[in-house]
Amino acid sequence: MVESSSTPGPNAARARTHTGMPVDLRVVEPDQFGNLLQHFTGSARHNVALREAAVRRGLHISEYGILDDATGETTRCATEEAVYERLGLAWIPPELREDRGELQAAADGTLPDRLIEVGDLRGDLHMHTTASDGRNTVEEMARGALERGLEYIAITDHSATHGFGNHVTPDQLRAQIEHVRAVNARIDGIEVLVGTETNILPDGSPDYDDDLLAELDWVIGSVHTSFGMAEAEMTKRMVAACEHPWIDAIGHPTGRKIERRRPYALNVDALLEAAARTGTMLEINSAGDRRDLDDVHARAAAAAGVRILVDSDAHGTSTLSIVRWGIATARRAWLRREDVANTLPWARFGPLRKRAQRRGGS
Ligand SMILES: [Zn+2]
Ligand SMILES: [Zn+2]
Repeated sequence: MVESSSTPGPNAARARTHTGMPVDLRVVEPDQFGNLLQHFTGSARHNVALREAAVRRGLHISEYGILDDATGETTRCATEEAVYERLGLAWIPPELREDRGELQAAADGTLPDRLIEVGDLRGDLHMHTTASDGRNTVEEMARGALERGLEYIAITDHSATHGFGNHVTPDQLRAQIEHVRAVNARIDGIEVLVGTETNILPDGSPDYDDDLLAELDWVIGSVHTSFGMAEAEMTKRMVAACEHPWIDAIGHPTGRKIERRRPYALNVDALLEAAARTGTMLEINSAGDRRDLDDVHARAAAAAGVRILVDSDAHGTSTLSIVRWGIATARRAWLRREDVANTLPWARFGPLRKRAQRRGGS
């Protein structure tokens, strides 16, 4: 909400829902709907920047129309597109309205032509089962993903040192390899990869042996312990993880939990450089309290040439759908389908894994 007034006026009402959410109702003529919608959508910073850009053209924007100083005429806009067009701009998707360069891009015609959508995802490379702290079996997760239209998934249960119990020992992981391969053979229409979410130890190494990691189809490395390291050490740890030959991707790269835990001290630019250089993918983790990478870092990652994933980190079939939150973050990061690796079909995604390139080159 950009604006509030104490008395709503004759064409407005104010209410509060049972959850405490305030609701403002405004009634305008149909030919002003675009003005109203634009005025109350997006961040205050975007609207301030937009108003300033309009003033430079001798125009004044309000929720009722666009006033031309020179003629005294007010243009009413039935759509948001018409509002932006009157200002010489392409329509700007609401997710980009943050005053982070979108006005210039809209003037130059360089906005992304289409932002990524949930339906673009073909794979989900991060999820848990009853082998660690998940609620469903491998087979149930695979069938749930198939129902959602996915073409490939990776089963990535927790490793031994992640610190919350229910972990997978090396022997259990060896048994899991056989089990996942059997499920994959049994279910048509989806590729089920056997993987792990291995804990990144303080020195940057994973907590399984390399020969075991080499047997898997996919490895995510994540930090679940020793969050309090100084920035230089933490950055060294994450760069070392990127340089590890069997770590294909980094999970929830900054470790933040919204309103619960700040990100650990980390030079994100150094991580992006290492990820781009080594071909290590970085995740946008879709969990509602993570959204990690966040929108600013994800945009920087794409600009740095990093391959980005949007993963559910689902702990049950019912949460496979939370990728919608990861996609929301990806859209705020200006990402298009081609900026996110797991929109590719399996035949093109598979060869991008570090381990595939390593094997292909050896
Ligand atoms: Zn994790
Ligand atoms: Zn996880």
